[in-house]
Amino acid sequence: MSDDVIPTISHRAVMHCPYCWQRVVFMIDVAYPHQEMVEDCSKCCSPIYLDVRMDDEGKITVYEQGEDD
Ligand SMILES: [Zn+2]
Repeated sequence: MSDDVIPTISHRAVMHCPYCWQRVVFMIDVAYPHQEMVEDCSKCCSPIYLDVRMDDEGKITVYEQGEDD
């Protein structure tokens, strides 16, 4: 038996908008282990800056980037 897990092309992630706290569902392209992306909130249309990291096991963690300047 193989324990290999082949990551799918895209990964579904759920975040909360830092502006209105609406749940935002978006797709992550897992082709890159580390990427930064911007998703618009579906409710308030504010840009949410995301820092997406995948570890050696293919586990994806999404960090919100504060934009506070
Ligand atoms: Zn929002």
